[in-house]
Amino acid sequence: MSHRLGILLGDDIGPEVVPEAVKVAKAALAVSGGEVAWSELPIGRAAWQAMGTTMPDGTLDRLAALDGWILGPIGHQAYRHLDDKAVNPHPIIRKHFEMFANLRPALSYPELPSLHKDVDVMLVRDNHEGLQPDRSMFKGWGEMMPSPDMAISIRLITRQNTERLARVACELAMGRRKHVTSVHKDTVAPMTCGLFAEACRDVAADYPDIAFDEVMVDTFALKAVMEPGQFDVVVISNMFGDIMSDLVAGLVGGLGMAPALQQGEKYAMAQAAHGSAPDIAGLGIANPYAEIMSMQMLLAWLGRRSGDAAVTRAAAAMERAVNAVIEEAQALTPDLGGTAATSEMGDAIADAAGAFAEDR
Ligand code: ATP
Repeated sequence: MSHRLGILLGDDIGPEVVPEAVKVAKAALAVSGGEVAWSELPIGRAAWQAMGTTMPDGTLDRLAALDGWILGPIGHQAYRHLDDKAVNPHPIIRKHFEMFANLRPALSYPELPSLHKDVDVMLVRDNHEGLQPDRSMFKGWGEMMPSPDMAISIRLITRQNTERLARVACELAMGRRKHVTSVHKDTVAPMTCGLFAEACRDVAADYPDIAFDEVMVDTFALKAVMEPGQFDVVVISNMFGDIMSDLVAGLVGGLGMAPALQQGEKYAMAQAAHGSAPDIAGLGIANPYAEIMSMQMLLAWLGRRSGDAAVTRAAAAMERAVNAVIEEAQALTPDLGGTAATSEMGDAIADAAGAFAEDR
């Protein structure tokens, strides 16, 4: 079985960290027997410099011919004023491929500094609706100002979108600790949060093996800070999820440790939570963890979706390799307390991934 994955490097540290994720995936796939044809697509500032646009014509069609791709961080703020071809490609891609679920894990490692040592939580955040004004309307913008002193924001929740989100959460939980927590605030917003809660409840009823519970978002913030070990998979609406995923990333060492996958019905995109970090670009010290683990999530998704055991084995090997390199603490970047360069950490993980991928 052969798959097609794309590589979009992104800006600033993107061309430093994304190739490390590709290197590790290739090392694992070479040994596990997974077949992937890779293609690189220009995007962002480099594309603008070479082709006069940050999003070259045909990019969406080329992506549609793939199974999934990795998108490096986009530093759009720095070049947004150049001209009308300097668009931010990320929301266009996410919207076009209807990537409704944003999977954001937070995992603590005993060897690394973190506020808690027992964090292993997967936030499944809506990415398609909610309070975000660009997503709550078919036409127009979900915010308005009837007068200079009055502003109104519209929040969108649909049963169909929440049900598919909850299904993603439940499917993931079946491969984890079989516990799903729906986070909302239906006491204050009985219609929008109420519908979100009801749709999650309905879907969870289809999974009798899953322990399902509900927590108000403010209580979740408290419990996540004080006792994060009690959470496994969390299903959460867009804005609440935006805030809470940064909170749980903070529990385990910050954004450098925060991988993410954008998932739709047909496509998925690996996209780490951190930005393009222009302050450290070119120094070769960026931590490749988040990109490598985002790629790991992409392969795990591809393996689940296609049923290709060789790809699933490669994803498992990548995860074990990251764990081993962190445990040995031999090749860690400065933000993790080491002295290794980005590529040295990537090399160590790639070597370990190849070795682990031999295990069947
Ligand atoms: P954006 O607005 O694009 O999300 P930002 O400015 O909020 O970006 P980042 O670009 O993620 O945030 O940078 C925040 C801080 O984290 C910076 O000091 C940056 O150097 C650091 N940082 C981000 N990613 C990494 C990484 N992979 N390795 C090491 N440090 C990182």
